[in-house]
Parts: sequence; structure tokens; C-alpha cells
Amino acid sequence: MEREKLSEIERGDDGCILRFGDGASFRLGYLAIRCNCQCAKCKPRQENEQRKIELEEEVMRLRMEKPRVQPIGRYGIQLEWPTGCSSGIHSFKHLRELCESHGTQL
Ligand SMILES: [Zn+2]
Repeated sequence: MEREKLSEIERGDDGCILRFGDGASFRLGYLAIRCNCQCAKCKPRQENEQRKIELEEEVMRLRMEKPRVQPIGRYGIQLEWPTGCSSGIHSFKHLRELCESHGTQL
């Protein structure tokens, strides 16, 4: 599906602009991406509200820095954060969902 194909990512200091195959563009903060981190350590922590709040508090204490982006096949990207948590794969589908729930459409 075109809407679940990331065509461009433009990184800023505290968030990025994501453009998708259907032409939609969103601004999404790194905070939202990191609170929904897909790594093996963070993913189980999003399963219940209490653990999710704890994860969000931890993420908010981290210094927000521009990640390095590594493409993973045709379906996702890996974001390498200077402060860790870089092993998770963010599928385009997941990023689109995050954009729609936490981002601002441009
Ligand atoms: Zn993580």
C-alpha cells in the first residue's frame, strides 16, 4: 500500500518530517518515536498503561538527538540514537500509524 511506504525522511533537531507514497507528509517528534520504540527491550513495556508511563518518563529524561537512519529492506528503517535503543526496526506501517496518532499532518 502506497500509504505505508516511506519515501523520505528529513531529520531536524527534535523531530523529523516523514513523507509517504500517497503524498501525505507529517511532522513527528522523536519523543513519540522513542516512546513507541520497537526494540526488544522497549516493546514489551508498551503493553500496559503503567509500564508505558514509566517508559515515557525514562524517554523524557534522555537528551533528544538526531538519529542516524539505516534502511531495512523495503519495509522499514532502523534509527540509531546516540543515547541507545538502536536495535528496533520501525516498519513503515508502524511509522505511518505513529504519524496519524502523534504527528502533525503538513
Ligand atoms: Zn528501545
